[in-house]
Order: sequence, then C-alpha cells, then structure tokens
Amino acid sequence: MSNGVTPAPLALPAAHWDDWLCGRVDGLLESARELLARLKDGAERDAAEALELWNDADIALRAAGSVANLLSEVHPDDAVRSLAEQRGRDVERARTDRDLDRGLYDVLEATDPAGLDEQAHRCREHVLRDFRRSGVDRSDDARARLREISERLTVLDQDFSRIIREDVRSIRVRPEQLDGLPDDFVAAHAADAAGLVTITTDYPDYLAFRAFARDADARRQLTVEFLNRGWPANDPVLHEMLALRAEKATILGYHSWPDYDADVKMIGTAQAIAEFIDRVADAAEPAAQRDKQALVARKRQDDPAGERFDWSDFPYYSELVRRDAFDVDAQEVRRYFDFAAVRRGLLDVTGRLFGLEYRPVDVPCWHEDVAGYDVFLEGAQVGRIYLDLHPREGKFKHAAQFDLVGGITGRQLPEGVLVCNLPRGLMEHRDVVTLFHEFGHLVHHILGGRQRWARFSGVATEWDFVEAPSQMLEEWAWDADILRTFAADADGVPIPGELVTRMRAAKDFGKGMFVRSQLFYTAVSFVLHGDRPADHTLAVRELQQRYDLIDYVDGTHFQASFGHLSGYTSAYYTYMWSLVIAKDLFSAFDPADLFAAEVAHRYRDRVLAAGGSKDAAQLVRDFLGRDFGFDAFAAWLDRAPVPSRAG
Ligand SMILES: [Zn+2]
Repeated sequence: MSNGVTPAPLALPAAHWDDWLCGRVDGLLESARELLARLKDGAERDAAEALELWNDADIALRAAGSVANLLSEVHPDDAVRSLAEQRGRDVERARTDRDLDRGLYDVLEATDPAGLDEQAHRCREHVLRDFRRSGVDRSDDARARLREISERLTVLDQDFSRIIREDVRSIRVRPEQLDGLPDDFVAAHAADAAGLVTITTDYPDYLAFRAFARDADARRQLTVEFLNRGWPANDPVLHEMLALRAEKATILGYHSWPDYDADVKMIGTAQAIAEFIDRVADAAEPAAQRDKQALVARKRQDDPAGERFDWSDFPYYSELVRRDAFDVDAQEVRRYFDFAAVRRGLLDVTGRLFGLEYRPVDVPCWHEDVAGYDVFLEGAQVGRIYLDLHPREGKFKHAAQFDLVGGITGRQLPEGVLVCNLPRGLMEHRDVVTLFHEFGHLVHHILGGRQRWARFSGVATEWDFVEAPSQMLEEWAWDADILRTFAADADGVPIPGELVTRMRAAKDFGKGMFVRSQLFYTAVSFVLHGDRPADHTLAVRELQQRYDLIDYVDGTHFQASFGHLSGYTSAYYTYMWSLVIAKDLFSAFDPADLFAAEVAHRYRDRVLAAGGSKDAAQLVRDFLGRDFGFDAFAAWLDRAPVPSRAG
C-alpha cells in the first residue's frame, strides 16, 4: 500500500484463537526470515534500499512479538496463553538470531549513509548501535554465550510474569471484619456456607480493603498475602535473571547491568542514577517527614502503644488524615465515579484535548469485557484501541498499555490495548487517575504511530522518558471543571467544585511519602541489579528502611511480585525521572484552561506524534522552547498542604 491510503485495522478472529495466533505469528516470522535472507544475498543495494528491507523485516518481527506478548497476558483461555508464550519464545529466538548475525551487521555497516535523509540516517545509526549492544561484533564464543543468555532470559521473563499473574491469594474474614468498607463492596462480598467472606489479592479487593478496613489484623493479613505473591516460586527465577543480565553486561564490556542499560537512556550512567536517587530523596525529605508525623499521630489515636507504621497502616491512615484534616472522604468521592461514566469521560476529555474522535466498533476480540474504538484525527482514521479494564482469572494483574500493532505510515494502523484491573461499579478517584495515566501511554502509541521506520514508531523514545506523557495526563483527572463533565452521583449531581478543591489540597498531603516510596522501588530495581545481594529479602528490608519512611512487614517478599523487574529491569528510576520532566511539561499549560488548543496541539504534534524520531530531550526542547529542568518538580514538592480543618 502506498502513503496516503488508510490501512485497515487488524481483524481479530471470532473463534479458533489458537489457529489464528499460530497463523499470524508463523507467517510473520517466515516473512521476516525471507526478508533478512534477501538482505544478505549479495545483490548490489544502496543504503536506502538495504534499510527498507531491514525495516520490512523489523515490522514483521515486531508485529509477531506484539500479538504473542499481548495474548499471553490477556487471553481468557489458558491453552491460548501457553501457546502465545511459546510463540513469544519463537519470536525472541528469531530476534536474537537477527541481532547476533554478523553477516547482516556487515551488510548494513558497509552501506554508505551519504544521501540518506535525516530519519533514514538516524535509523541506520540506531540499528547499528542495537547490533553492537547485542554483541554482534564479539567473538564466536561470546556470541554463542549471548545467544544462550538471551534464550534463557526470554523463558525467565515469561516465568516471572506468569507466576505473578497466576498467584492470586486470598484471606477469609468474618463479615464484621468488613467494617469500614463501602456498602456496595460489602454487598458484593457475601459470606460463604462457613460464614466467612473471601477477599483476594486482585486490585479491586486489595486496594479497597487496605484503604478502608478498620480491622488492623485483617488488613495486615491481606497485606502479607499481597506482598508474598510469587514467593517462593519467583525467588530462583529472579536470581537467575539478574545473574544472566549481569553476565551479559560483562561480556559486552560494561561494569554492571545498570551501566549497560543506562547507556542508551537520557540519564546515561549507573552513577547518574545513584546521584539522582540521592538528589530526589533529599528534596523529598521535609515533605515526607511532615507526612509521616501526621500519619503516625493519627495512628496513635487508635493504638497509643503502637510503635510500628508499615504497609498495612499506610493507605488506611492516609485516608483517615485526608478525611480528618482535609475533609476528603474517599468513600464520599467514589460515589461520583461510576465506571461507565468515567470511561466515557476519559474518551471525551482526551478527545477534546488532542482533537481526536473515538468511534465504538463492534468487532470480535478476546473477551466480552473489552471495548474497541477506532480513533480519528481531523476526519482520518489514525488507529484502533481496545480497553480491557476489569480483572479476570489468569489475566495480567497490574495496569499497562500493550501494543497490538505498531503504526507505519500508509501501511499499518497503530493499535494498542489498555490492560487494567479496575472495579466494575464505583471507582475510587485513584483508579480514575490510573486510567488517565495508562491512557497517556495508549495515546502516545497511537499518535506516535505514523512513522516510516518501525524503530521509531509509537512509544519509542528513550525508556526513561516514557512515563512523562502519562504522568502529565494525570493532571487532567484533577481539574474540577474537567471532572464535572463526567463525574456525577447516582442522582446525576456533578462532583462539587469545592470537593475537588479539597481533594487537590489533600493530594499535596502524602506526596513526600509517595516520592520516597517510589525511590524505594527505584532502589530495589537498581540495587538488585547493581550490587546483586545474595539475600533479596534482606536487601528489600534495608532499602525500605532507608528510602521509604515505613517499616518493612516481617515475613514478606515484595520483590517476588515486583513485575517491573522484568520489563524495566534496573530502570525503575524512570518514574521519578519522567515525573521531573512531566512537571516541567505541564508548566506550559494554563491551569485555568487545560484545553487551550494551541499548547495542547503543539504538545501532541511535537512530543507525542514524534514517537522516537528524535531524542527525548529534543522533543521537550521542541515543545518548551528550552531544556527541561528540576525547578517545577522541586516547587511541586515544596508546596505545603493546606488543611481545611485543624487536626
Ligand atoms: Zn506508566
């Protein structure tokens, strides 16, 4: 198909997903193999022709990987998920074969870049760099070992994710132990024949229970179960995964995995990550101490002798302080957030902001809960999205955007999937923020999906920039005028503006602790990969004491279900790094008019639509007209919460 023609979305099957999956993945792999073989056939080609062949194969490989990865995490049929994992391994093997193929590298390296346009030139540079980062220019022995490591890491990554996905735990409590939870939650959790109620570690149960259950023992029991998901099964998986990543980094001449990983990120080096952690920890210290004092003081009212303040206390007492000091009752707030209205509101708000239109489509997909929409920009279809937003057995347990198809101008429409675990009825405002956040990734995938080169399509910037668009979009879920357009109670009364004002004041409370918690996760991801301690649990305990201002819960092993250790590896710092950028990006918007079209469209066109076609620092410069800085983030941290009540 030529440029200018809108390609058709991928048709998903109404049945026989196993056949469809195998047909699609195997066909794409065959096509990639054939294209790459042609690239090595010795024919005379200039750089542009060679890169086109490379790109065609890359498009096929990525498409195969996306569908296998998505279905392994969301398909309701266990057999299809297993098959998708197996095909995912085939794709990874094909990718490894390509990336360690010295003959291919030599062909591309020998091309003369003179005469290439700027994007083709950039693509060539990135492809050659990716090759070297795979070890293509190492000895035969080294490449053989790197191939083994790569194959094994694929299996370990899949094991790690599957173990988390399938390890749903639960506690059984007496009905009176639901005291404090919203009525609709209680109604949906009836006692069984033995007179007990089951509460699971899936998010809709876990997040509500730890925030609202008055019974401290029950809260603690559920917290222990939640923090032990994946334990002990994932302990050996994680140790082997970290050892292999470290070995790969060493073979490639790096001091550690974090050094290898950071080399192609905005931050640059492991040393810079360590310094960034310290800098943010110091900046957050006053706010975090202020938060903690308020939380501990509130806990003392219930438990005067209590010394500890841990994970089972934190969300519960945060809610109480917000209610007492800021007059924000999360249960009052959630009356305004009905799932269906929020989903509609999300589409209306982002549609207006980015000039997009979403048209519902009635097409087959993998589960009846999933809603599909075609996305239009200025009358032209620019993508398709699927929203898969409620938990079910065997489904991915966290919240993330998954690619279904990467966009290529004139050839493939970008398609993406939001996979979340939200409640079906009333939602907490926190869930609304999560939804806006994840949608930020989805819209980035779609708007960034009009590229010629697969390498730069969608969310293809340096990985430590990827959270910035999502973190910035969260701000739209905190604006009173915006919330009033979709948040209304059962009688249709919109959320009062003064309630949102109080919610915003309460949001300033807790941000110091939030940042320190994020630094704890950051330090776990960085230290487990860098120092490689023998006892992960001991390290987690020490890091929690140092960065998080709350106590470790004895007998728990959080790292075993910390899914980001698979995808983000040592780069969880990405969240804080991106937040620094997000606060600066947001400073360009007028808080009194978040829909102002000039700035919104400039952001859309210069940051999101650019995908990975420029370095992230340049995208920010193109939008802000200057380099990003730390000031907006520091000002946000320093802004003290203003209580609306004494207490
Ligand atoms: Zn995110």
